[in-house]
Amino acid sequence: MQVLKFGGSSVANAVNINKVVAIVQQALEKDRTVVVVSALGGVTDLLLQSGALAAAGDEQYKNVLQVIEQRHLEAVKALIPVSKQSSVLSWVKQRCNEIEDVCNGVFLLGELSARTKDRIAAFGELMSSHLIAARMSELGAVWKDSRELLLTDSNFGNAAVVRDITDHAIQQYFNSVNDQLFVVPGFIASNAQRQTSTLGRGGSDYTAAIFAAALDAKVLEIWTDVSGMMTADPRLVPHAKALPHISYQEAMELSHFGAKVIYPPTIQPVMKKDIPVWVKNTFEPEAYGTLIEREVSLNGNHIRGIASINKITLLSLEGGGMVGIPGFSKRLFEALASEQINVILITQGSSEHSICVGIEDALAEKAKQVIDETFRFEIQSGKVDPLVIEKELAVVALVGDNMKSHPGVSGKMFGAMGRNGVNVRAIAQGSSERNITSVVAASDVRKAINVLHEEFFETTYKQVNLFVAGTGNVGGKLIAQLQQQQQYLMDTLRLQLRVIGMANSRKMVFKEEGVDLNNWKEVLEAGEPMSLQGFVDQVRLRNLRNSVFVDVTANDEVAKVYDQLLSKSISVVACNKVACSSVYAYYRRLKDLAREFNASFLFETNVGAGLPVIGTLNDLKRTGDVVNRIEAVLSGTLNFVFNHYNGEKPFAEVVKQAQDEGYTEPDPRLDLSGTDVMRKIMILARESGEQLEMEDISNKSFMPASCMEGSVADFYKEMANQEAHFKSLFQEAAKEGKKLKFVASFDNGKASVGLQHIGPEHNLYHLYGKDNVVLFYTNRYPDQPMVIKGAGAGAEVTASGVFADILRAAH
Ligand code: ADP
Ligand code: ASP
Ligand code: MG
Repeated sequence: MQVLKFGGSSVANAVNINKVVAIVQQALEKDRTVVVVSALGGVTDLLLQSGALAAAGDEQYKNVLQVIEQRHLEAVKALIPVSKQSSVLSWVKQRCNEIEDVCNGVFLLGELSARTKDRIAAFGELMSSHLIAARMSELGAVWKDSRELLLTDSNFGNAAVVRDITDHAIQQYFNSVNDQLFVVPGFIASNAQRQTSTLGRGGSDYTAAIFAAALDAKVLEIWTDVSGMMTADPRLVPHAKALPHISYQEAMELSHFGAKVIYPPTIQPVMKKDIPVWVKNTFEPEAYGTLIEREVSLNGNHIRGIASINKITLLSLEGGGMVGIPGFSKRLFEALASEQINVILITQGSSEHSICVGIEDALAEKAKQVIDETFRFEIQSGKVDPLVIEKELAVVALVGDNMKSHPGVSGKMFGAMGRNGVNVRAIAQGSSERNITSVVAASDVRKAINVLHEEFFETTYKQVNLFVAGTGNVGGKLIAQLQQQQQYLMDTLRLQLRVIGMANSRKMVFKEEGVDLNNWKEVLEAGEPMSLQGFVDQVRLRNLRNSVFVDVTANDEVAKVYDQLLSKSISVVACNKVACSSVYAYYRRLKDLAREFNASFLFETNVGAGLPVIGTLNDLKRTGDVVNRIEAVLSGTLNFVFNHYNGEKPFAEVVKQAQDEGYTEPDPRLDLSGTDVMRKIMILARESGEQLEMEDISNKSFMPASCMEGSVADFYKEMANQEAHFKSLFQEAAKEGKKLKFVASFDNGKASVGLQHIGPEHNLYHLYGKDNVVLFYTNRYPDQPMVIKGAGAGAEVTASGVFADILRAAH
């Protein structure tokens, strides 16, 4: 004997039912077969909906019933040969009339009892099984109403099966007939008074397990719409993988914590009889699926799967009066049991000061009432506080048989969630150590599960979700580099970089699956109008794991939103210098937020573009070195200008050339005035540990004040007028055999910038083009400084520095 169960989507319509027939036909060659079926997909919901509408006095229930009837009639017409249709059609119509009669009664009375609900819901399985049996009559199928075999108590909606009587009835029936193929409805049963009951939503799996156990079946097959039990719910984690083998306990644990693919009570009866369970995909029958059995060989991974239950409420009973007095928890659980409230999770601190239990949201009010009533006396006398309830939570559980022999699993679990800003409200671990359960905000479930899935399973890859603000010079290059490297990063670092959001000053766009970087310009152009706060809200709301906000603008306003992002554990990578060179308090606050919320705040490109200046400085500091002095040429623009200016081509033209080649800030005066260099040396000083503001830096500007007034066009005009001034600066240095360099230094807590004459013996002398150089004099590099030198401006190198920061943030 073998039992095959087909779920709602497997029998949703005629096309699918024909797939089921093919599977059953093959199976039948092996053994005598019981086929257990669910209602046509979605029909149970529709039935319950019509009952609820009727009870609420809403005549719409008739329309819903119409839809139900239509679906069944259509299925019959498509499945049964015309010559045999009429009897099945009239049978289905009769059932539909019965449902309508019941609903009419409900409508008149204006009430819907649990018993009547079951009566209505039962029609789904009744009709599906009947029409499928008719379709399989060519295979010799016999239809049998499970209500004649399965006996339950009268807990309508979630009735408990009386196993010994049921087993006996099933055995007796199957011994009394010789047929080879049976089709029976799942989900439904009856009580001692022959009133229809149901086994709870998803209960057809359980029906199948009861048949399998009673008949000592060789195998129970659960045919559904996924290729087995997976490492996580595939609707939440698109990369979830099917588990080829798992143990009964693991399957039970996973289903208990929300893996809907198997109804939790299903495993118990088959486990007792050692009957293997196959989970298979009706739509991909050749896929291996999952085999659930007693012993499962270890496969190296001690975590088997991740599951979640939504709509959880946490009840906390607290109070000094509970310490050391036995019996509090007994009374608490008795109170909950008296109202049939199922407890999903329990935690109690060893201080015994509080007990915390997790239950379904829908039962929260009932629980509060009964508990406050139970402890009324203690609450009045102040020994216990009134019950605290917290709603809109969810349970996320890690499941695996082999967890117990592996320390560090929970550390890894909570570490991963913490790094992604998922706040854990409560924790529980069964003493079997087969699960670790955490309670998190419902809005964090998707993120939590994906984070954990990446942490424990993704030998495939880790997803990094980017939000890029700015698509100008640097932004454009960055996107091109991201696109070029996407495959490489996937292959070598197992990183999947996706640009989920993108914005420039006019437009913004979000794509759940990532913007197609091949034609990002069109995609962005078709986006909505840009609103900075709107963009930030979206980044926060999406609450994606490994989120990185990338600021490739030079905008003051954008720099002001970093705190909103970091405080949501969203990393910030910026080439925008504004934040780090604003008042020290803001810079400090951002660094503190990053630490507090486990996010990265990286801005390597603020100094020296793609050169590893800040990273190196941090490495020196972290390893215990002390930076005593910094000397640097930090302006690619000024270096370019002084390297190209020799008194022949006018100074203004050399500046223009620098701007045209993309080495200057959008307003070149920021470079020429030395302000940009001041910002950079200040950032280096701050990173060295000095609390410095812009006013603390001395700047001996070489620019005539008249050049700095008016527009950029005025600036060029006035520079041309002042050519003599620039020429004399050059000649003074030249006659000493020296070059002009705009030098920034930080020495003994003091920072300054200014034009200097640098001779050939100096480390700063041999500096060409737009190069930058930074000399770190430290305790470990006292005489010969550590030198970092190379191109210090340009969109390509800046973009690559930003890119490197993104990868750092991703790790
Ligand atoms: P059926 O109607 O066949 O009984 P269900 O909808 O009850 O099917 O269960 C199958 C669904 O369970 C899948 O479509 C999937 O979305 C969901 N599911 C949740 N967790 C898991 C998991 N860990 N593995 C497989 N499926 C899961
Ligand atoms: N049809 C029932 C439900 O939708 C039982 C089942 O499908 O297992 O809950
Ligand atoms: Mg199901």
